[in-house]
Amino acid sequence: MSFSGWKKHIEDGDLVIFYINRDNLSPVWIKAGKESTTRFGLFKHDDLIGKEFGSRVVSSNYRGFIYLLHPTPELWTLVVPHRTQILYLPDISFITTYLDMKPGARVLECGTGSGSFSHSIARTIAPTGKLFSFEYHQQRAEIAAEEFKSHGLGDLIELKHRDVCKDGFGLKDAVNSVFLDLPAPWEAIGYAKEAFKQHRTGKICTFSPCIEQVARTVTALNDHGFVDITMYECLIRNHDVSYIQKVSFKDAIQQAKERREIQASGGTNKRKADTLLELDDTIEKMLVSKTGVEARGHTSYLTFATFLPAFEENKLNPAAALVNSIL
Ligand code: SAM
Repeated sequence: MSFSGWKKHIEDGDLVIFYINRDNLSPVWIKAGKESTTRFGLFKHDDLIGKEFGSRVVSSNYRGFIYLLHPTPELWTLVVPHRTQILYLPDISFITTYLDMKPGARVLECGTGSGSFSHSIARTIAPTGKLFSFEYHQQRAEIAAEEFKSHGLGDLIELKHRDVCKDGFGLKDAVNSVFLDLPAPWEAIGYAKEAFKQHRTGKICTFSPCIEQVARTVTALNDHGFVDITMYECLIRNHDVSYIQKVSFKDAIQQAKERREIQASGGTNKRKADTLLELDDTIEKMLVSKTGVEARGHTSYLTFATFLPAFEENKLNPAAALVNSIL
């Protein structure tokens, strides 16, 4: 048990995320008799067994403390050993939502890479869904398969080692949604079409850093009859959140007047001016956020499209087929 469920207390053999600060986290397998060293000192695993997840613990040599966090897909994305470029949470949450992933869904993902996205998909589709994940790099495939098993996700994720652009997915009439994070996704679009459940609508997303790749993918999607083709880009903008005093208009004018008077008096009453600028606990406060002007972090373009069941076979027009497949 680690990603497949929640537990309250840490046991021998559990995976724990050591949280030192926002930028310093590490995954640790707890083992009786073992020790781990962090920049805040030494932690004996025997002292951690039996502690509640979320506890704050001080190192054996009292140099500092860490938090013992329960593994989640979000934390795993922050600590996963990078064997490839990985997907991060802004893209992960956007794609998961737009591909309508939910418990019980059957999803196809290629390539597996470092398994960052796979962990989030697995949590979303659990307990009855299935993730078919494909990877053509043998060592990467083996490491990811081992990781999924040790994280309790072996039943949810079926990992296959193959070149999908050459050999396809080997899946027919099987999935609700498809995600392609490949250098040449357009080569796999035809195989992806076959993999969709043929009597329902399905959603596909491709993840490509360059606009030229997007153009080729869009052409392939059109050629294979996908509809509703749309491209998005997820950019990150930080919000600095803080409390400010909530003052009435009248009080604000009064405070401004007083400040101006103090300034006019040559700042002799500096202490009073400072007091006016300090936060007063008795005054109601409100939470505000300030955003920077710049949005950071182009990762990739997200191209989405919808698969519709074949119209000719159904003898239906597209709108009727769409309604039929939803009902
Ligand atoms: N989405 C993954 C994550 O979040 O960790 C990262 C995927 S990584 C950028 C792309 C992976 O696709 C690589 O591991 C690569 O080996 C694999 N790949 C590329 N072409 C492939 C192909 N034709 N068939 C299968 N896997 C392929």
